[in-house]
Amino acid sequence: MKVMLMVPPEKHYMVASTHKALDHKREARPLLGILSVATYLKNRRPDVELKFIDCRAEGLTFEDIAQTIREFQPDLVGLTCLTFSYYDTLHTARIIKESCQTAKVCVGGWHVTLYPQETLNQKDVDYVVFGEGEKTFLELVDAVSQGRHPEGVLGLGYKLQSTSKMNSRWLDGGSPQVTGKPVMNEYTVRHGGDHQQIKQVMLNHERPVEENLDDIDSPDFSLVDINRYSHILDRGFDVTLPMESSRGCPFTCIFCDIRKTRFRSRSPEFIATEMERWAAKGVRSFFFVDDNLTANKPRAIQLFKEIVRRNLNVEFKVSSRIDRLDDEVMLWMKRAGVSRVSVGIESSKQKYLDLMQKKITVEQIEDCLARARKIDLPVFAFMMLGLPGQTRQEMLEEVDFLKKNKVEYASFSVLTLYPKTEMHRIALANGVLKEDPWQSFAENPVPEMQAPYANGLYSGEELKKIQLEVTRRFYFSPRILYRRIREVNSFKALKQRAKLALRLLGIEGA
Ligand code: SF4
Repeated sequence: MKVMLMVPPEKHYMVASTHKALDHKREARPLLGILSVATYLKNRRPDVELKFIDCRAEGLTFEDIAQTIREFQPDLVGLTCLTFSYYDTLHTARIIKESCQTAKVCVGGWHVTLYPQETLNQKDVDYVVFGEGEKTFLELVDAVSQGRHPEGVLGLGYKLQSTSKMNSRWLDGGSPQVTGKPVMNEYTVRHGGDHQQIKQVMLNHERPVEENLDDIDSPDFSLVDINRYSHILDRGFDVTLPMESSRGCPFTCIFCDIRKTRFRSRSPEFIATEMERWAAKGVRSFFFVDDNLTANKPRAIQLFKEIVRRNLNVEFKVSSRIDRLDDEVMLWMKRAGVSRVSVGIESSKQKYLDLMQKKITVEQIEDCLARARKIDLPVFAFMMLGLPGQTRQEMLEEVDFLKKNKVEYASFSVLTLYPKTEMHRIALANGVLKEDPWQSFAENPVPEMQAPYANGLYSGEELKKIQLEVTRRFYFSPRILYRRIREVNSFKALKQRAKLALRLLGIEGA
């Protein structure tokens, strides 16, 4: 059996929280979700001929995909899909079908987890994986290779085909639940003339999340060309490897799509062993993708201690909530080699922190920043602009706050009502959103989709202008310019910094 797993090309850019000048076609990191699915399959089904393609990293176009599919003739292609890449993912699915009629297409990823049925209803999608994909995709491959329907595979949706019987519930827009008994809906696909075909859409039960992440193999980076990945703020290391030590976050920030999700983690030994293995091969730089690595403080300290104990001599970047960064955590971070800690400050005004249910205070933020400075631990601040009722002046003042607290790095996002977040739900309930643009997009994706904002004072275009103005104001301040130039220690780093500057100046394609 031949299986291909693919990160589709990025052609249509959806304007949302990040500024296009800094985000579009930026250097990227390997997507650990789909890489983890590929690794899990590779390790358990060595008989399967597996091909992994990251079109973004490899710069592949839709035409390239058609050629690759024609040559490889896969039985099954798995595509990863965020809401941003939904349109391109479906276009990729279409190309796969046109290039190899027998290939089945399975789509997984965060968008599918939010909208499994809507995704499965799309013409060129045969299967959807919602929730964590490692075990689900493996079981799907088992079913397909044995020629049976994947009934009972948790976290999977699929289609059955027949030639008769029409369920009016579907045609009337009846909506099944993902949980509970598998649901069956039927709809009509017209193939021109009078010919009609009935397809039944099946959504199996949800798969419980993986409790012990040590049971999920570390991503096999031999599946990708790791040299193709780098990030605009990397400091010039040849390779920076992404690591995932935990999933989920129990906190309540209302703009965040993983709020109140179960925190699960890999053991410190598992992670340290993985880093040690790569360090022995000469890799010195790592990036933890965990949204909140310190959610469980004792575990985080144990991890840092384990890295110190093994004397790995590596540097790595992590993310943490402000209120988890007490002196002990920060000291062990520093000793273990953390070169930058990202924190969600979002705002320097208490009214906005409360509105977002950040559950932190401005005093806590300033205290944390002062303590980080004292031990020379660089901080990357995630800031939010375009908060409900926030004025341009207030947004510009955020830079003053960061300068006052000598923050080293910052990114400024425009608060976006992302699908199925608490903020999105509130906006629908109180009429800020008259209708749900994400639902329409999930059902009928269009390339010109624009994400909705919550500010209420400025248009999306105006917010984007302010965002660029604020970002320039921060990065072009003499202190920050000096600090960034001082960091340059290689030609690669110099190139990346130059690109960042050109993009901030609005020079597209840099
Ligand atoms: S702490 Fe971070 S990851 Fe957790 S809910 Fe808030 S924004 Fe999301």
